[in-house]
Amino acid sequence: MTIQKIKDYLQEYSYLKSIQALLHWDMETMMPKGAIDDRARRLSYVQGKLHTHITGKKYENLLNQMGKVKLKPLEKKLLKELRWDFDVNKALPIKHVMELATVQTHASHAWATARAQNDWKSFEPYLQKLIDLKRKEATFFKSKKPYDALIKLHDKEFTSDEITKLFSDLKKGLIKLAAEVKKQGVLVDVKDLKGPFEIEAQKELSQWVAEAFGLSRENSRLDISTHPFSINISPQDQRITTRYVTQNLDSLSSTMHEVGHALYENNLPREWEGTPFQEAVSLSVHESQSRFWENIIGRSKEFSEFIYPHMLEKFPKQMKSVTPADLFKIFNKSIPSLIRVESSELYYNLHIIIRYEIEELIFNQGLDAADIPKVWNEKYDSYLGIRPTTFREGVLQDSHWAGGAFGYFPTYTLGNLISGSLYQQMKKNIPKFSDRIKKGEFGEIKDYLVKNIHSKGRSISHQDIVGELKTQDYLSYLSEKLLSKK
Ligand SMILES: [Zn+2]
Repeated sequence: MTIQKIKDYLQEYSYLKSIQALLHWDMETMMPKGAIDDRARRLSYVQGKLHTHITGKKYENLLNQMGKVKLKPLEKKLLKELRWDFDVNKALPIKHVMELATVQTHASHAWATARAQNDWKSFEPYLQKLIDLKRKEATFFKSKKPYDALIKLHDKEFTSDEITKLFSDLKKGLIKLAAEVKKQGVLVDVKDLKGPFEIEAQKELSQWVAEAFGLSRENSRLDISTHPFSINISPQDQRITTRYVTQNLDSLSSTMHEVGHALYENNLPREWEGTPFQEAVSLSVHESQSRFWENIIGRSKEFSEFIYPHMLEKFPKQMKSVTPADLFKIFNKSIPSLIRVESSELYYNLHIIIRYEIEELIFNQGLDAADIPKVWNEKYDSYLGIRPTTFREGVLQDSHWAGGAFGYFPTYTLGNLISGSLYQQMKKNIPKFSDRIKKGEFGEIKDYLVKNIHSKGRSISHQDIVGELKTQDYLSYLSEKLLSKK
């Protein structure tokens, strides 16, 4: 009875979330620019409603009642997750939330200008203010180290000590692998595909790939935005975006990435509407899904063979002298770059590890904004062997810190590690795994993810999916793919 009451109460929460998501999606894709102030006020109104709804006395009473009745194991787990969310939301004083929101808006604005003008000094005081506020925020939660509190807002299953251990193993493995790939040279001297690539044909290719992976047109839309994203309006209504330029086919990989996110949201269990069981396990597990489709499927040899005729059909001139084997090399060209979002799969995690190590220094060891650029450049030099010469291609390249999103970066690499373990699992459990990719038969692969991850929502943890997370699965996956057999 109490559980039904809670589900009813949270259904309203889920409806409000849909309204908020739709306002967001529209803002990023369709809204006329002049409406930004109106929209910001409406979004903040809905945010306020949501916050009151899930921190109010009425809801707290329902949770307390639920704590007093005899519960089945699954219901106990639900209560634990509900409590976790309630405590996190309740711990943040509204004054702090509002101050942070204001500073974030100004800092993001200052960051965009600073980045355009390569002017670190103008952004530094905003970043310091955000760091101070986030250091304060960490004190609102109980945690062994301050950075842990911020990490837990994005993935509550990890501490900074655990991530440091994983990432230092991974770093060693990646630096070694990068040296071997460089020595072999096969994936280094690779000529990129030469455009122009007509936008209409790119759109068709993206739409086709989304459907091939199993995202139905009946339940999704693919649109255009400055930064590709995916958003869940409701389980049956997934919106993803990509961006098209005529010079390259990057739209394809960002579409595959966002499809991975959308498939997750699309297949969360409907019967738990509004509850944590209709949410992803964590941002890391979410990212494991997008990266699985983008990299493990989308950059595999078999996928290159599968997509080749379709690309040839869309771009006969540009693909004329390209073979499926060339396509695989193009998708996996491995040279270090300064910009994270342009990085190859091989170097991507080193970009993340650098950001993680800097955040760790900021929150656990007192590094201040003024010293970040120096540390940044030294780490790029040491791990990737290249050094930024401008702030724009260095410390000013990402928007995350300007938005106050500290603790977010590590989820990208944790997601990659989880996807590596999933790959090893699937190779064992799905008969003819590689053949299926080659033939474009993705049904069984998708069903495996739905059955073991999507349909469970937050009733499971990442350990239930891949066991204790290790770096070996991911590193073997990468070596197997990137090193030529001797
Ligand atoms: Zn993503």
